[in-house]
Amino acid sequence: MLEMMEAWILRMDSLSLLVAVALLSVETVKDLILRHQPGKRFLETLASLSTQIPYILGELFFTTATVIVYFTVYEFVTPLAIPVTVGTLVLALIAADFVYYWEHRLAHQIRLLWISHAVHHSARVMNTAVAFRFGFFESPWAALIHLPLILIGFHPLVVFAAQVAVLVYQTWIHTELIGKLGVFDKVFNSPANHRVHHGCDAKYLDRNYGGILMLWDRLFGTYQAEEETPRYGLARDFDSVNPLKVWFSEYPALLRDLAAARSFAEVRGYLFKRPGWRPSS
Ligand SMILES: [Zn+2]
Repeated sequence: MLEMMEAWILRMDSLSLLVAVALLSVETVKDLILRHQPGKRFLETLASLSTQIPYILGELFFTTATVIVYFTVYEFVTPLAIPVTVGTLVLALIAADFVYYWEHRLAHQIRLLWISHAVHHSARVMNTAVAFRFGFFESPWAALIHLPLILIGFHPLVVFAAQVAVLVYQTWIHTELIGKLGVFDKVFNSPANHRVHHGCDAKYLDRNYGGILMLWDRLFGTYQAEEETPRYGLARDFDSVNPLKVWFSEYPALLRDLAAARSFAEVRGYLFKRPGWRPSS
């Protein structure tokens, strides 16, 4: 079973790329035909895809480090190994989806994590290229928060496969091509649910963190169905398609705040409290 996992992970990646190319092609043709800001949307697409340059360079290091840490912990620390069966694979997928909910929610609520995840949210348009718009330090955080799955006994390859499945699932949900899907929207993450997540309107902020299931959002009170079409992007005034500004959009303000901090408590507040936190608040 474990030998199959590596091939399966690669196959899922290729499938994701195929779906993305198909969706993005239709979206681009639709923008051109409807004259729906095709220039602006094309530049946003390029800016989104450009984030893969630092991301992939970082991955060369982060993925290697994660593989070493996961296998070492599994070998020397994990007390009991969970056997790999179809049942435990399903369990691993549900567990990874649950962990993803918290990975994602905390990435919105802790500024040190938000400066990376904000890259994914800074596009003013919604198309499939946004699915590939990542911040530089997103994967070390993902590796860290999934570590308990290794500690409770899931094999590292199973955890990797489950993490990839949760991410690959989300390839098709960054689009305006697909409308509401009725009952499906109530149970699973979907284009309508995820458009809400990318909305910066007050009612849509900090909603729909789920990866595959919406169950976690319903359980923890963060679910919001799509009503009006969202205004996409960051709540603050950011509308750049310059790759460098997109890659590092949140860094200058954080560095300014850290430089102005008057105590260690303020440094801690700027790094670990919510984005927008001020010492007086
Ligand atoms: Zn998000």
